[in-house]
Amino acid sequence: MTDNNSPLVQVQHLVKHYPVKGSWLKGEHPIVHALDDVSLDIQRTEVLGLAGESGCGKTTLGRCILQLVRPTSGQVLFNEHNIGALNHRQLRPIRFQMQIVFQNPLASLDPRMRVRGILHEPLRAQKMPDFLRKERITSLLEQVGLGPQHLDRFPHELSGGQCQRVAIARALSVEPNLLVLDEPTSALDVSVQAQIINLLEELRQRHLLTYLFISHDLGILEYLSHRIGIMYLGKLVELGPTASIFSQPRHPYTQALLAAVPKLSREKQVIIPLAGNLPSPLNPPKGCRFHTRCPLAQDVCRHDEPTLREIEPGHQVACHFV
Ligand code: SF4
Repeated sequence: MTDNNSPLVQVQHLVKHYPVKGSWLKGEHPIVHALDDVSLDIQRTEVLGLAGESGCGKTTLGRCILQLVRPTSGQVLFNEHNIGALNHRQLRPIRFQMQIVFQNPLASLDPRMRVRGILHEPLRAQKMPDFLRKERITSLLEQVGLGPQHLDRFPHELSGGQCQRVAIARALSVEPNLLVLDEPTSALDVSVQAQIINLLEELRQRHLLTYLFISHDLGILEYLSHRIGIMYLGKLVELGPTASIFSQPRHPYTQALLAAVPKLSREKQVIIPLAGNLPSPLNPPKGCRFHTRCPLAQDVCRHDEPTLREIEPGHQVACHFV
C-alpha cells in the first residue's frame, strides 16, 4: 500500500548518457553527459520548478521521470514503485498517471485530427465506454476554457493558446497525478502565457495535481512553484523553497541567473557576469562543472566536485564555499 505522506516521485542518482553515433568508426567513443547523478523528490500536489540554461538537462530529467527515455543508471520511484524496472507493457497503466505538456502546442497535436479525435484517443486507450467519453470531453473542454464549437476544428484552425488548452485537456483526460510541463508557455504571447499559467494553477488545485514545471522564465517559476531546482550541465546545483531561492540564492550560478532577470524597480541592478559559454556536455569540466565560468572559483573547484548538501532545512547547494 502506498504511503500518502511519501513523495509522489523519487529520483535517485539518475544518470543519462547518450553515446554519439558515427564517431565509433574513428575509434572515438564520445558521450553526451545529459544527466549526472541527479537526486530529488517531488511531493504530492507540489509544483517543483526546474530552471537552467538550454542543454542543462531539464528536459532529459522530465523525460527520464516519465520513462520516455530510459536512464543509463539510477532509479525513478513513482508512488514508491521503481518504474525503471518495468517493461513497456507493465508501464502502460502507470503512464496514464503521468502525462506531459510540450513546449510547442501546435507540433504536439496531430495535424490530421480534429480536437474531438485528439481528446477521444486517450480515453479509447483507457477503454472508456463511448457515452462516458462524450460527457468527459465536454467537461474537459469546459475546464480548459474551450467549448463545443472547438470540437470539429483542426489544430491549425486554433490559436497557439487554444492549441495549448487542447494539449492540457488531452493530458488531463486520463486523470493523471503528475504533469511534466516542459516550457508550456514559452511559445505563446505574453498575455496568453498569463492565462495558461492561471489555468494550470486552477487545474492543479481542482484535481490535486503534482507538477514538474520546466522553464527558463524565473518569473513564472517564482509565481507557480513551491520549490525550485537549478540545473547546470547535467547536475542539480541548488534546490530549495522558492522564497529562499529568490531572497537568498546561495550558488553563484543561481545568483547570476537571478541577477539577469530584468527588474521594474528604480534600484540599480547588479549584474553578475558569467564568463564564457556553457561548456560542452561531451566533455564537462572536472571538479565543479561551473568552475570555468564562476567568479569565485578557487583551485579546489578545479579538482574536487562539490556534492549537494543541505545548508538549511530543505535548502541544498553544491558549492565548496557555501
Ligand atoms: Fe564556484 Fe567553486 Fe562554488 Fe563551483 S565550487 S560554484 S567553482 S565557488
